Amino acid sequence: MSAGGRGFRLLGRDGRARRGQLLTAHGPVQTPAFMPVGTHAGVKALAPDEVRATGAEMILCNFYHLALRPGVELVSELGGLHRFMAWPGPILTDSGGFQLFSLEGMVQRDDQGVTFRSPYGGETVRMTPEAAVRGQRELGSDVIMALDQPVGYGAGPEAAAEATRRTHLWARRCRGQETGDALLFGIVQGGFDPATRAASARLLGGLGFDGLALGGLVLGEPAPVRQAAVDACVAELPEALPRYLMGLGTELDLVDCVSRGIDLFDCVLPTRLARTGTAIGSRGRLALTQARYRSDPDPIEPGCDCPACREFSRAYLRHLFLAGEILAHRLVSLHNLRHLSRLMEDVRRAVEEGRLGALRAELAASLSGAHDGGPRGRRGELPSVGL
Ligand SMILES: [Zn+2]
Repeated sequence: MSAGGRGFRLLGRDGRARRGQLLTAHGPVQTPAFMPVGTHAGVKALAPDEVRATGAEMILCNFYHLALRPGVELVSELGGLHRFMAWPGPILTDSGGFQLFSLEGMVQRDDQGVTFRSPYGGETVRMTPEAAVRGQRELGSDVIMALDQPVGYGAGPEAAAEATRRTHLWARRCRGQETGDALLFGIVQGGFDPATRAASARLLGGLGFDGLALGGLVLGEPAPVRQAAVDACVAELPEALPRYLMGLGTELDLVDCVSRGIDLFDCVLPTRLARTGTAIGSRGRLALTQARYRSDPDPIEPGCDCPACREFSRAYLRHLFLAGEILAHRLVSLHNLRHLSRLMEDVRRAVEEGRLGALRAELAASLSGAHDGGPRGRRGELPSVGL
């Protein structure tokens, strides 16, 4: 824990799974936790009090996008990110390493930083590790992410080694920046080779960050490859620091990664699925536009306490989607976020009671039952890019 009472408090364990509290300048976050994504300083279609009511304590915003539009200076002038978007709780900002990785071909990298054309105005922009940390601090972020360089799944060992070398170089330079009240997280890279991952985790774990993230995963790799990478990192990361797996948001994967020792997650999946008419249920996904729900009087998930399930039938939601009513997006977003929030509440309770293994088995059994063929592809698992 840092001097100002910020940092991570470990409250209990169940195997490798941990129950903890992330203490930020804008309040505590119970972990394991899932963060809704508000890339452009807004969780799509929802007001801040609605997001909070789903049970979310911390949200993710993206420094890269906000720096390009509307600009850090404007947000700062208007009182900082919390005031600007009227979210009073903790905010984690991603640096943009992943977004720059997604612009491959339009980016020139060197050891000092990255030069690229803004996808918004076309102007040439220069980003350095120091500027990424300074900019996130100026936004007023509670958790600042270091600038990193991910490497795609399937890249050769030389490309992975080079990206990892640069990530480490940049991590040291980010670490040298003053971050005030904010926590600073390093990002472990290393591609998909467990030994390179372990080396990256070991090195970053020794640099004095307030937390460590696992970046460059959930890029289309098979689950066992990801699991091996996670295990290799976790074995090397300091026990006292929070661990954040970036971009993961499917239910079984979340529980699996908690059981492997991860504390924090984010993903655009719940809100992105909602906009395609897909609700996340305990027995699988419901593609609400399907004809089978035409006269279905049940809520999305019987027993769910979200505003959509308390008041509305599947038939009504299907009707709203077919009629193109934006209320449908809002209601299913509320449900999907509440569903994942409830899952994480169950996970935290299970870790406290030493029965995470049983919860995982129950979830797997429930999800292996019938589901109606809603999109489950990994497309939705990718961190938000240009949404
Ligand atoms: Zn619901």
